[in-house]
Amino acid sequence: METMMSSNQTKSLKEPSRAASVDVLIIGAGPVGLTLANELVRRGVRTRIIEKQSSIREVSKALILHVRTQEALNRVGIMTAAVAEARAMREVVVHGYGKHIGSWHLDGIESPFPHPLIIGQNRTQHLLNDALRRRGVEVEWNTEALEVTLDDQGATVEIRHSEPGSMQVSGETVRADYVIGCEGSKSLVRKTLGLTFEGERYSGEQFIQADCKLAWNLPNGRSYLFLTTDGYMMAIEMPNGFVRIFISIPDAAGTTHQTVGQLEAENSLGAAEDISAEPTLDEIKSHFERLSGMKVTLSDPVWLARYRTSHRYANQFSGGRAFVAGDSGHVHVPIGGQGMNTGIQDAFNLGWKLAGVIQGEYPPSLLETYNQERHPVAEGLIKGTDLAYKGILHPGEIKQRAVRLLGPFVVRTDTAQTFMRNTLEELTIAYPHSALTEDHGGGGPRAGERCPDAHLVRHGDQRTVRISELLQDAEWTLLLFTGTHLNAWAEVLATGTELVARLSGRPVAVHLVVPTASVAADAPAGVSILIDALEEAHTKFAVTTPTVHLIRPDNHVGFRGRLQAGAELKAYIERVFRPRG
Ligand SMILES: Cc1cc2nc3c(=O)[nH]c(=O)nc-3n(C[C@H](O)[C@H](O)[C@H](O)COP(=O)(O)OP(=O)(O)OC[C@H]3O[C@@H](n4cnc5c(N)ncnc54)[C@H](O)[C@@H]3O)c2cc1C
Repeated sequence: METMMSSNQTKSLKEPSRAASVDVLIIGAGPVGLTLANELVRRGVRTRIIEKQSSIREVSKALILHVRTQEALNRVGIMTAAVAEARAMREVVVHGYGKHIGSWHLDGIESPFPHPLIIGQNRTQHLLNDALRRRGVEVEWNTEALEVTLDDQGATVEIRHSEPGSMQVSGETVRADYVIGCEGSKSLVRKTLGLTFEGERYSGEQFIQADCKLAWNLPNGRSYLFLTTDGYMMAIEMPNGFVRIFISIPDAAGTTHQTVGQLEAENSLGAAEDISAEPTLDEIKSHFERLSGMKVTLSDPVWLARYRTSHRYANQFSGGRAFVAGDSGHVHVPIGGQGMNTGIQDAFNLGWKLAGVIQGEYPPSLLETYNQERHPVAEGLIKGTDLAYKGILHPGEIKQRAVRLLGPFVVRTDTAQTFMRNTLEELTIAYPHSALTEDHGGGGPRAGERCPDAHLVRHGDQRTVRISELLQDAEWTLLLFTGTHLNAWAEVLATGTELVARLSGRPVAVHLVVPTASVAADAPAGVSILIDALEEAHTKFAVTTPTVHLIRPDNHVGFRGRLQAGAELKAYIERVFRPRG
């Protein structure tokens, strides 16, 4: 890994100084900062997290948790509680230009979390904050980072603590080995690093929304999308009988433009809420009826908001000992609710790497893969949402006609359904160009891709286990498939024995996946044996001959190869992990 860096970078990522007052300072306790704090603290990293607000803001903002994010948050440890209070989003009914087009079905995904969940961003933040408190760390509220100074050894951060309702203010200088900017679109860390944040504000359109109760003639248990020549609108079912109504309306320059909120919005970089011009429920109702063509009754609003959005992203997500994650690095239109999800996955990606580097498990150069992996994801997302914004939500007359004519047929095809599910649920996000990705052939998921799930039976207690459960309980997981015929059994045993020895003392759980229990007695010590009698795992991983998949702590395949690639696997292990002793 060391060889992948320039000499300058090597210098800037020297060993952490133990003289620092804290290992990591996280600025911002939004969903991204809270996820990262949990990921670091649960691995024993000394972490402080500061937040200039006095508490979590009690509004629902980003309310979809996509499947890939749920898988990540399961590792963080909040999914049992999240599932208990969230509402499943199984189907989105689409009306396009006056016609019922069909439904996107979002259920039945092969994951312990088979569909997206609807839960307010504030509730997700509370669950993350509760988990952090159980781990013994409190967010430092009313605490603002004023200035960040970076050097080779870390960061010096000037912070200000204030007491709400009092004039008392105190300052502190914090020294940290690493500083992470999770402070949203106006990120101080991003500015300190001198990164650009290019993109544009979507002009000519604003969004109005309400979280309220809705009575109309369409059945519940679904969410609805209306595309019309005059704008588009969604109604998303939330927990406790509420509905999020989200409507795009023209942003007439010269009228709303003069409000203070609008002026603030023009200067703002991310999604900017115009609190000076909240919509009324009557305004929402009139646009709802206009776009849906139906009479509705709206009541009990708990949040009304008007806002405008931008799309922008930083030219890179790290520099030396500083990183940006979430809205600090990228903001986009809320199409498909990808913003917060992508940010949480940034934090999930960075957490295990940073913890492992601080604890001496990995070389510091491993941290470069954060930018290598997450920057292309954000870039792709921004391009994708921009395309969807222009092509699907604002199509020309020809495309509108195509939607009316062909939409119902396209939506019914498995290809379209699968594409939509995989894209929205972020299941196809992969890191093919990362220095942590090494592929030497074989079937199934390639190195860099998400590890699939499958059911197996554990030899010994004969308990049914899912691969997703095995990943949950380990940092790294090595799956050594014997293949469906055991004709290379002797080589598998030799390789397995050697790998166990090489990985001893490292955070890697080794599993041998065999088609029959009859061979269990021969297996090397220190290896768990998983019986794949139905060949479900062999099929999902498209394995017939002996193959190795080494899965990373974030459930992506790091290394894939046939048994013959044993030497390359050993080299990979030597490169990724620091030498022991
Ligand atoms: C009205 C509205 C509706 C939205 N709807 C959706 C949606 O439907 N779907 C979707 O995916 N996204 C939506 N978003 C965007 C989503 O809320 C963000 O993507 C998400 O909050 C990003 O999380 P974050 O942790 O990166 O940043 P934030 O949530 O912005 O958190 C950053 C935190 O850092 C704090 N902070 C800033 N500077 C400092 C400092 N110097 N010192 C200390 N603390 C600091 C801030 O107070 C803030 O709490 C919406 C946003 C808005 C405004």
